[in-house]
Amino acid sequence: MARTITEEMFEKYKNISSGGLGNWTISRAINTGVMFPRAYMGIHAGDPESYDTFIDLYKPCVESYHHGFKWDPEHAHRTDLNPANITETISEEAKKRIISSRVRVARNLGPPYVMNPNGNAATRNAVLDLVRDVVGTLDDELKGTLYEHAKLTPEEEQRLIDDHFLFKGRDMRQAACGYHQYWPAGRGIFQSHDKQFNMWINEGDHLRIVSLFQGADIVGVVRKLSKAVDAISAGVARATGSSTPFAQHPILGMITCCPTNLGTGCRASVFIDVPKLIKKLGLHGVDAICAENHCQARGSTGEFSEVTEGSRIDVSNKYRLGYSEIELINQMIRTVNAIAQMEEAL
Ligand code: ADP
Ligand code: MG
Repeated sequence: MARTITEEMFEKYKNISSGGLGNWTISRAINTGVMFPRAYMGIHAGDPESYDTFIDLYKPCVESYHHGFKWDPEHAHRTDLNPANITETISEEAKKRIISSRVRVARNLGPPYVMNPNGNAATRNAVLDLVRDVVGTLDDELKGTLYEHAKLTPEEEQRLIDDHFLFKGRDMRQAACGYHQYWPAGRGIFQSHDKQFNMWINEGDHLRIVSLFQGADIVGVVRKLSKAVDAISAGVARATGSSTPFAQHPILGMITCCPTNLGTGCRASVFIDVPKLIKKLGLHGVDAICAENHCQARGSTGEFSEVTEGSRIDVSNKYRLGYSEIELINQMIRTVNAIAQMEEAL
């Protein structure tokens, strides 16, 4: 955003609101990038309308992050979360180094639900109330427990974070866009009894639907995720009476608070242990290799973290728009195989 915005754009938009629920403005949209000019994206959306109302600014930001994506009807986002379409396989070399596999997708509810950067305690609680209804109807392997931040002890919350299930919620860049306001209202996590299906509530986006398995069974992860997404979509549609349960854009696909997540909202990752590579190149060196393959490397405690648990890192797809979910997962698998082969060769 900081590299893209011009005085002319700001002047054009400074006195208007985006037109959705609430009163999202360009000043609020750019706050993260103003405070942290080196943030990846530096701009957020407070309602689905933001993207079109302030298109002169969002469009170049979105196109430059999601390399290769063009904001026009010909490149309209298409979705595919069918595990049968995964064509890549995790190599034997990678398999023995992978600790766990995770795929998540971001979802936001349409009106009357207000997107979180623009919301308050009541709007967040309304989302949690809906989720309570929906998860009560899940069956079989998706059944589980809803943990609400307002009722969790600090120890219980920390345990869920340490086990990699739950968001931390203490990031300054996220705080600058309004994610952490009215904490802990409406925040929570739903976890299935086998802990393989997790759903974040109101971290930033209304929902993050997550499948997390120990080991390298990425196809199993996607199968579970796909089932969970279908069940949650159907549950939300039933509870709200809307045939389109989530906020979508005809070109941009799923609407998310942060433009890095538009489209699929999908980040597919593995934790992989590559001690020699980390020793030689550091996390940032491995990240540079990943970037050449449309992927990224993170430390093992989430975005912006360093390597703190042994030498495991989180390798995932970097883009979420311009490719289907399955294409992103294939990119991740290819990159993980390449990284494992490099480790082997050292
Ligand atoms: P997101 O992209 O979903 O916002 P974050 O980078 O904030 O993800 O990480 C959320 C949590 O998920 C962190 O605790 C992180 O360590 C954990 N995580 C990410 N990938 C994996 C994985 N493959 N296995 C286990 N935990 C993971
Ligand atoms: Mg995140």
